[in-house]
Amino acid sequence: MHVVAVGGGIGGLTLALMLHARGIRCQIYEASRGIRELGVGINVLPHAIAELKELGLLPRLDAVAVRTRELIYANRLGQEIWREPRGIDAGYQVPQFSIHRGRLQGVLYEAVLDRLGRRTVRTSHAFTSFAQTEGSVKARFKAVDKSGRLTVEGDILVGCDGIHSAVRRRLYPGEPGLKWNGVLMWRGATVAKGFLDGRTMIVGGGFSNKLVLYPITPAKRGKQLINWVVTYRMGDGSHPPPRREDWNREGTLAELMPHVKRFETAHVDLVKLVKGAPAFYEYPMADRDPLPRWTHGRVTLLGDAAHPMYPVGSNGASQAILDARCLADALVAGEHARAALVAYEAERLPKTAEIVHNNRKGGPEGVIDEVERRAPDGFEDIDHVLSHPEREAIVKGYAQLAGFAREQVNRGAEGTLASAAGAKARQSTASPSRGRLGQAKRRPNMA
Ligand SMILES: Cc1cc2nc3c(=O)[nH]c(=O)nc-3n(C[C@H](O)[C@H](O)[C@H](O)COP(=O)(O)OP(=O)(O)OC[C@H]3O[C@@H](n4cnc5c(N)ncnc54)[C@H](O)[C@@H]3O)c2cc1C
Repeated sequence: MHVVAVGGGIGGLTLALMLHARGIRCQIYEASRGIRELGVGINVLPHAIAELKELGLLPRLDAVAVRTRELIYANRLGQEIWREPRGIDAGYQVPQFSIHRGRLQGVLYEAVLDRLGRRTVRTSHAFTSFAQTEGSVKARFKAVDKSGRLTVEGDILVGCDGIHSAVRRRLYPGEPGLKWNGVLMWRGATVAKGFLDGRTMIVGGGFSNKLVLYPITPAKRGKQLINWVVTYRMGDGSHPPPRREDWNREGTLAELMPHVKRFETAHVDLVKLVKGAPAFYEYPMADRDPLPRWTHGRVTLLGDAAHPMYPVGSNGASQAILDARCLADALVAGEHARAALVAYEAERLPKTAEIVHNNRKGGPEGVIDEVERRAPDGFEDIDHVLSHPEREAIVKGYAQLAGFAREQVNRGAEGTLASAAGAKARQSTASPSRGRLGQAKRRPNMA
């Protein structure tokens, strides 16, 4: 079995590690010239961290990231709406991490180089097209320095090429562009004095004007890299965004500052924090409608290529990691490569489609929107605005839906494929682990 993965982002690199752990060969083709640590902060939820732990990556993550301890939701005026412990502090067996996206990618990339070898990731090659026959699939790439073209043959082709996926475009040439909801986000990270316990995430304000703050590096002499996001609704989404979705597009202070000044924060000097960032980025909040199918014969999609979603509820990277686990298990368990891709899609497509839809309503942060709708000028007593059970239903309901409720993660059952496939995987000597597919014996740390 030889898997050709398009894209060396979070999903593609995780897939390569998962496949390697199961004795399946994988080669990654990445369009950018090198794996550089791009992006700002993201959160990776316990169900996805359980998968990375199984790959032996927990110590490497601990060295560069923060174990999130608490999450606070507040209104725009800083009044607390909801507070809950996270990760280990919430009784999970694994942590939630707040981490620089580029550092997460770096941890995965280093592990791929260590375990699979330097030649596993071929950079500077952009996917252009594929052709498949009964027995194999051929993918074509062009060198980004225009030095030539490359055709590679494999048993499976997986598009892990992100929100502007070229593989998806080949499968769905007529698909309209990304759907923008009218909200623009500015994202940055600034080295500053830590706030509260140095492990707390604060989300303030509803969908139309939101502030997100959390530290993403361990403290060094009292300072941490603090991730911040400010959103503002510029329109109703009926027009295309002012500029194309590009994770690396820099924003301007002139455009951002009026939206920053709307927030009241007790713990952080927000203006100073924003002005102190060496660079920050703007990005329109955009997604796509869920697809009817990801799998077409020997070709399938994974991560943002399969299910781009609004970055609320910390699910972008987490769901890509879960996809990778599920696909790797399906390939080990399946009778045939094509059947395995169908089984993978059957497991993952409906779940991720639900998250895409729920994120459009604000995900767990919808609780803030509801409170601001009922009490736009603030409140004396939150329980008179929205009762605790009502708030809990929104927040915990999302955790169930996205598969990271504590019981789901601790019993390791999220994403379990059909038990028949599980039985097959348990027989396989290549199958390593705690078993999304069953109870196969845990392999020792694969680091
Ligand atoms: C540069 C960058 C910065 C980001 N910053 C943030 C952030 O700050 N906050 C956040 O929430 N999310 C960010 N994301 C998105 C986040 O990484 C994803 O939502 C999530 O991790 C899912 O990962 P993925 O592997 O599906 O996609 P990604 O992590 O986006 O990876 C896709 C990979 O495919 C490559 N690629 C694209 N087209 C081709 C092609 N034709 N041929 C070969 N390779 C191709 C890309 O270069 C990229 O490496 C960023 C993504 C990128 C690429």
